[in-house]
Amino acid sequence: SLTLGIVGLPNVGKSTLFNALTHNDVLAANYPFATIEPNVGVVDLPDPRLSRLAEIFSSERILPATVSFVDIAGIVKGASKGEGMGNKFLTNIRESDAICQVVRVFEDDDVIHVDGRVDPMSDIDVIATELILADMETVEKAIPRLEKDSRKNKELVAQLEEAKKALAVLEDGRTLFKAQDEIDRTLLRELHLMTAKPFLYVFNSDEAVLGSQEKQDELRAAVAPADCVFLDANVEAELLELEEDEAMELLESIGQEEPGLKALARAGFNTLGLQTYLTAGPKEARAWTINKGDTAPKAAGVIHTDFEKGFIKAEIVSFADLDEAGTMAAAKSAGKVRMEGKDYVMADGDVVEFRFNV
Ligand code: GDP
Repeated sequence: SLTLGIVGLPNVGKSTLFNALTHNDVLAANYPFATIEPNVGVVDLPDPRLSRLAEIFSSERILPATVSFVDIAGIVKGASKGEGMGNKFLTNIRESDAICQVVRVFEDDDVIHVDGRVDPMSDIDVIATELILADMETVEKAIPRLEKDSRKNKELVAQLEEAKKALAVLEDGRTLFKAQDEIDRTLLRELHLMTAKPFLYVFNSDEAVLGSQEKQDELRAAVAPADCVFLDANVEAELLELEEDEAMELLESIGQEEPGLKALARAGFNTLGLQTYLTAGPKEARAWTINKGDTAPKAAGVIHTDFEKGFIKAEIVSFADLDEAGTMAAAKSAGKVRMEGKDYVMADGDVVEFRFNV
């Protein structure tokens, strides 16, 4: 499954956040036979639609989709040159599908900042620069090879041109993700460039930032097109120790409607380019993870490979229509249930039953 790699400078709250992410029973409860890697945090993707489906179908249990975060230790200035834990760090990032940087915005004189002051955009630059330098090295090595090979293989000409464009972007000090409108990242896929991956920023905030829409808007605009989440890692850790009503009280006291981990799960899921569809029956109401743009047979294949091979059609009702109708029978008689074929592209909130040959 796809993962987000958590990175950040020392002392920004990575461990605190990661502990909060791993302090949950998702894996243990839903996948008792799965091996739990110590550096992987798996969280539920919150989806209030599932409890409504469970109500409609009298489902015994609810199985939400999950999002996986991998703790990547060891960024230091000079990582791109393999200093310190540099090489291992870069390998771990290459294996992640998106990069989630924890950035300190909270003020606290008791917590030392590596650069002596709290400056989120500068912290973002430090990490981006290491990744940009490492990508530059990769592209600089690839260009002569592509030049040679493209003389024989004309299909590589486009890749060569894209690599040259990418090098210019990197030399300009920008990530390929940020320059996504200027270059075709799919042509660069084989180079496994780190800055081409989607970025997500977690601004580890204090009450002052959580209470300031203006400050948040400013940071949000600065990191676009990357998404970002504002939370207080210490509060998130604390929330997990509390009973539900006490937790709600704490959240209210800092002006928040829900735990930041929920917003982080949603943003992480979106950043990975993922989407869900829903199934429901007496046994379970469940969300299944697919890529945005997947067709119905592809979506069926997530349940079982045989479902994809033997796909005939999908019976689909949108959650909104089913919710309004109240029962599947009512939705059917209202003409809200459609039969879709193999070219159908799944939409968010589709409630599905697949028909297939075995
Ligand atoms: P890491 O080095 O990035 O993993 O950072 P840690 O999670 O170990 O946090 C470093 C220090 O900052 C610890 O003393 C944390 O308690 C503190 N810290 C983490 N998050 C917050 C926060 O949101 N607010 C405040 N005031 N302190 C925090």
